Amino acid sequence: MTAPGDTIVRSQCPYCGVGCGIELVVRDNQVVRVQGDPHHPANYGKLCIKGATLDRVLTTPNRLTRAYLRQGRPGAAVHVPIDLSLALRTAADRLRAIIDRHGPDAVAFYISGQLTTETSYLINKLCKGLIGTNNIDANSRLCMASAVAAYTLAFGADGPPCSYADIEVADCFFVIGSNTAECHPVTYRRIEKQVRQHGAQLVVVDPRRTATAKYADLHLPIRPGADAALLNGLLHLLIRDERIDRAYIAQHTVGWDELAATVRTFTPERTAQITGLSIEQIERAAALFGQSKRTLSLWSMGVNQSRNGVAKALGIINLHLATGKIGRPGCGPFSLTGQPNAMGGREVGYLAHQLPGYRLVANPQHRAEVEACWGLPPGAISPRPGLPAVALFEALAAGTIKAIWIICTNPMASLPNLDTVERGLQRAELVIVQDSYADSATLRFADIVLPAAQWAEQDGTFTASDRQITLLNKAIEPPGDARPDWQLVQAVATYMGYGDRLAYRSAAEIYDEFRQLTRGRHPLDVSGVSHARLRQGPIQWPCPDEAHPGTPRLYSDGRFATPDGRARFLPAEFIPPGELPDAAYPFWLTTGRVLEQWHSRTRTGQVPKLNQKATRSYVEIHPDDAAELALVDGEPVNLYSRRGGCTAVVRLNPDIARGVLFMPIHWQDGNPNWATNPIVDPTSKQPELKACAVWLAPASRLLVVDPVQHQPAVMLAPASTDDTGPDQA
Ligand code: SF4
Repeated sequence: MTAPGDTIVRSQCPYCGVGCGIELVVRDNQVVRVQGDPHHPANYGKLCIKGATLDRVLTTPNRLTRAYLRQGRPGAAVHVPIDLSLALRTAADRLRAIIDRHGPDAVAFYISGQLTTETSYLINKLCKGLIGTNNIDANSRLCMASAVAAYTLAFGADGPPCSYADIEVADCFFVIGSNTAECHPVTYRRIEKQVRQHGAQLVVVDPRRTATAKYADLHLPIRPGADAALLNGLLHLLIRDERIDRAYIAQHTVGWDELAATVRTFTPERTAQITGLSIEQIERAAALFGQSKRTLSLWSMGVNQSRNGVAKALGIINLHLATGKIGRPGCGPFSLTGQPNAMGGREVGYLAHQLPGYRLVANPQHRAEVEACWGLPPGAISPRPGLPAVALFEALAAGTIKAIWIICTNPMASLPNLDTVERGLQRAELVIVQDSYADSATLRFADIVLPAAQWAEQDGTFTASDRQITLLNKAIEPPGDARPDWQLVQAVATYMGYGDRLAYRSAAEIYDEFRQLTRGRHPLDVSGVSHARLRQGPIQWPCPDEAHPGTPRLYSDGRFATPDGRARFLPAEFIPPGELPDAAYPFWLTTGRVLEQWHSRTRTGQVPKLNQKATRSYVEIHPDDAAELALVDGEPVNLYSRRGGCTAVVRLNPDIARGVLFMPIHWQDGNPNWATNPIVDPTSKQPELKACAVWLAPASRLLVVDPVQHQPAVMLAPASTDDTGPDQA
């Protein structure tokens, strides 16, 4: 209940990319309750359990409220509290010294899809425009980079074409590589309603029969990594059965004949052989897709986190272009973003190869346009793309990058092959970590720790998966010395001598500069969006002028963002995962999220209600596989790949395919990323977090069952996090 004197502040949930609108009930500088915004088009008042418990994560004991300097060696650090302005000046002095000694490319930024659009814009400008290096990347590289590349190749620009409102008019959902029920729960509830109450068909492609498949008309338990083969096989059948839209293909696309030739060999028999599915399952999926009038395809990390991720995303797009199911209500390829503002980060171009407004650093005209806006001399922006996430940390480990500033993300938990990440952070001359919480695993490597405000403690904007921009209104003051991320970066930049170029007085001013860079850009034009307008409610881009209502769907006119306005058909070449199970490493390991937790649990781990279902990391395994290894439910096991491993407990799951293991990504003790494969998609540079080959054995019997002589006999478990993070006063 609201009490007299309470105020209601509108914002957006800071977890997943559904982008649910929320209302914060504020009393005496405290958020006392969070409720769904009944008018927000992402959720119409609904929230999942994480969103509904958001009021608990702002005042937790692990909030970072002071700046710290490290004493001692990285990884075994003692952090001492210092005055914030001294920490900011020290960060500036040490960055400046490294740039002077080694040049701008010795410095890197690793940032996050949880930052506001304004913060990402400012950091990107500091890095690419003022310092003069493109070595900035974000955890979006682990999330949506393959979808970004596929959209750009096929449509001429990034940007999912669909709206959440398409769910209520779709008659078929093709969900591939997404456990929507747990990772995008509010969106899933809308899908479920459309299926159960309005008879829409639901096809779910996933090696596990997840909660998303509960009401599925067809579940395809595909072999990990085989999605591109399935998508090619489906297109083969759509062509065979004359379920393609030849008029749409002729009017709006190029490359059809070449593409059709590439899927000729994906007969049902061959597709079944590669995917592990039956011919009947493949035929049924093609019939459901082809017979429907309005198919919405939804995908997420199960498609993107792959060395073959761009091809998979292209395979989905090809199905929609070939059937003309795009640009119409209820139709289209729709990537579901993992983070609340990875979309906004992409808009401002925070990946190593991008510039604001869906521009590219390799494009001379794009660089010139941005240089002009930023008041920089021609040539100020380097034409060389910076290092993407995995390569960036490898360069840190190799010593070519000397300094890294990590903001609002936890690479010691989330990147593949954590051994390399750890070596990089240990070797770096300077590690600055800016975070809101003191128990991030990355913090123990920080030389300088800067305390950041949370989303409710600042103004800014987020863009959700469907291009809907929502204003985050500041509800409360941040605790202690914590400041909005953009203000911390602005202060360091000012000490470095860049203050006159970043002299913003508010997040609204930053947004105003950014939106000018999008004027006339197709499709990303937010020049008609401002903080003042967003106070009235969210706006979906493109929005090219201040009277424009926003745009629910891209490419409705069939004009794509390519030079000739036509979409491109591109082959979805099937390449198997970088590692296949063998005698030494007989299981596939796949990883993912669970409903109650978020990333590395710095927030959700503090909420008792969210910790009831699982208190520690686990390995899901089919009961028959467990029986062969004499494993019992709840037993601790060691799991390792060729790179390393971790310890977790067994959880029997009859709904996972035999030979496949699943681990959640959330727990630091029992983190599968000590084992995952850093191989990347050659185009998107997104790593293959979803498939690697592992061995597992009971923790108690590891010394006697290790079957491969070239492996260490003793498991290399990750270091305990008990002693991590700055000492809290
Ligand atoms: Fe937040 Fe996502 Fe849950 Fe919505 S569905 S409340 S955005 S975590």
